[in-house]
Amino acid sequence: MDTKIIEKLLKKKEKLLDMETEKLITWCSGCGNYGIQNALMRALVLEDMERNDFALFFDVGCSGNGSDKIEANTFHGLHGRAISLAAGAALANTDMKCIAFSGDGATFSEGINHLVHGLRNNYPMIFVMHNNENFGLTTGQASALTRKGTKMNSSPTGTVVPSINSIDLVLSCKPSFVARGYSGDVDQMTEIFREAIKHDGFAYIEMLQACPTYNRATPDAWYAERVRRVEDLDGYDRSDIWAARKLAQDVDENIYTGILYTDESRDSFMVNRKETLVNDVGYVDIVSAFL
Ligand code: SF4
Repeated sequence: MDTKIIEKLLKKKEKLLDMETEKLITWCSGCGNYGIQNALMRALVLEDMERNDFALFFDVGCSGNGSDKIEANTFHGLHGRAISLAAGAALANTDMKCIAFSGDGATFSEGINHLVHGLRNNYPMIFVMHNNENFGLTTGQASALTRKGTKMNSSPTGTVVPSINSIDLVLSCKPSFVARGYSGDVDQMTEIFREAIKHDGFAYIEMLQACPTYNRATPDAWYAERVRRVEDLDGYDRSDIWAARKLAQDVDENIYTGILYTDESRDSFMVNRKETLVNDVGYVDIVSAFL
């Protein structure tokens, strides 16, 4: 990490500590969620985000359990619905950066409609897809992103259905920002989050995540041999959708991480809408209202 960034983080360490929680951590030892959350907290601090400048939306799953592992404005909703919750909040209050988190199981099954329309509408929000290639919270069932042939608790002889190519599917929905990180590379994930915070539109971030407890097909050692940074590719043009789709085809040997695609020409859903709904509603003290 750049020494200037380290210095800035050190100067703001009180803010980082403010986000730490004393609640019981339930993630397994070695889980990729620790790295993802660490990168998120660093990015929020580096971008000078104050507590009420952002809100975090979670659904059910191991990633969803992140809702009680950070001191912030958080909302923990139904499985597969994190995008719709965050989109509603983002449209109501355009001054707040809304960030949704969901796993591959929820996103590419019951939540897939929200993903497609979030991308298409270019809602001004960030969506972080934790890809551990299985349903971890419910003890290791195959998801739509589990590799064909992988032995899981729900398919002990190996899955028989081909997996969805998540990045290629997202790129086919005319996105404005697509990135992929890896839970073992906190520095790169931090930079991805920082750029996503500044993006005006729907930022899709997929985090490849080790799940040492239930997904033994793609442990950290597997990723370490295959993950490459897109920054190291000579002349990579992240405005070229076909270059991004070409990279997306390889999910086995050379798995590129970084900001894979951006289209800054797309208008956010809220373009030309100056007033936000919270200005109409005003401030309501819901505690006093019911006393
Ligand atoms: Fe992490 Fe997997 Fe454990 Fe869930 S089951 S907390 S994803 S290691």
